[in-house]
Amino acid sequence: MNNTKIYTIASADEGSAQLAEAAEILRRGGLVVFPTETVYGLGGNATDSEAAQKIYAAKGRPSDNPLIIHIAYPEDAADYAEISPLYLRLAEAFMPGPLTVILPKKDTIPHSVTGGLDSVAVRCPAHPIAHALIAAAGIPIAAPSANLSGKPSPTCAAHVIEDLSGRVDVIIDGGNCDIGLESTILKIDGDHPVLLRPGGITLEQLEAVCGPVEVAAAVIGQLAPGERPLSPGMMYRHYAPSTPLTLVRGERGAVTAYLAARQAEGCGILCYAEDAELLSPERCIILGHRDSPEEQAHHLFTALRDADALNAPHLYAPMPEESGMGLALCNRMLRAAAHTVIEL
Ligand code: AMP
Ligand code: MG
Repeated sequence: MNNTKIYTIASADEGSAQLAEAAEILRRGGLVVFPTETVYGLGGNATDSEAAQKIYAAKGRPSDNPLIIHIAYPEDAADYAEISPLYLRLAEAFMPGPLTVILPKKDTIPHSVTGGLDSVAVRCPAHPIAHALIAAAGIPIAAPSANLSGKPSPTCAAHVIEDLSGRVDVIIDGGNCDIGLESTILKIDGDHPVLLRPGGITLEQLEAVCGPVEVAAAVIGQLAPGERPLSPGMMYRHYAPSTPLTLVRGERGAVTAYLAARQAEGCGILCYAEDAELLSPERCIILGHRDSPEEQAHHLFTALRDADALNAPHLYAPMPEESGMGLALCNRMLRAAAHTVIEL
């Protein structure tokens, strides 16, 4: 495409001149990668069909997989979507932050951005650089994760450069993403909330605000062949390292013994910090402490990218608990493992 410019920015204030340039590039229909608190986003003007097409092309993403619209302020959603009292309650509780809400679309957003759907996904990021860029651009920014389609989402600029150098106009390097997993996606049909993707806001946090939340079957379950999920993105192989990954579920000691045996056979292992001393440091990547799914989430996508460099024939990892942030970890790891789980 062109030469990608890389702007390294320590803070929104220090980088204000570069952010103003990037905002102008977005207004003129260009593509800018920016950091958010979840993962890096590949941004373009959400009101411009051509910009949307450029995003799909740069990512190699199928164009029936809709994009999330990023806004500077929660109330801006009313310009692009039919908002409801439930949206306002969620916005009050969780925005700005790692929550995406799916609402009926207004005509200001072209169908090319929403994969032909009459709904639109809206998010208001909390990261100061993302906020400053969107506010300076003065337009809504369509931004999927800034990885090549199928690869783990990028949580630092090095991952973005690996995937998208030469395919976008600007990459803003703002350091590592705090959360490391993508936003929670909640669809609201009137006052009925459905969780489509778990993420930085947990199911428990949502239920404290909305009451009972339906969890879409595809969050943990496997789709039947030919079945179409509520969120088109759940259809695709995702987050996967090139090396096949198997998850191991069972009692702690049994899982660690199983991982040690596979490691001794030459396989690569993802494990918890507490179990590392029972394993050899060779071909072993530590996800984080056992009782901190937040720490594991922060490291997961880097671990999946690094796992390929182990040059192992196969990877094994423990299956996380399904509560709190663990539900988001399970969702990403099950996809990375193509739902291959061994029960001990
Ligand atoms: P990413 O852009 O990589 O964070 O992925 C965005 C996810 O949001 C994908 O799984 C999309 O399928 C999903 N998504 C975006 N817009 C909608 C929508 N209008 N309805 C359902 N899912 C959506
Ligand atoms: Mg993605």
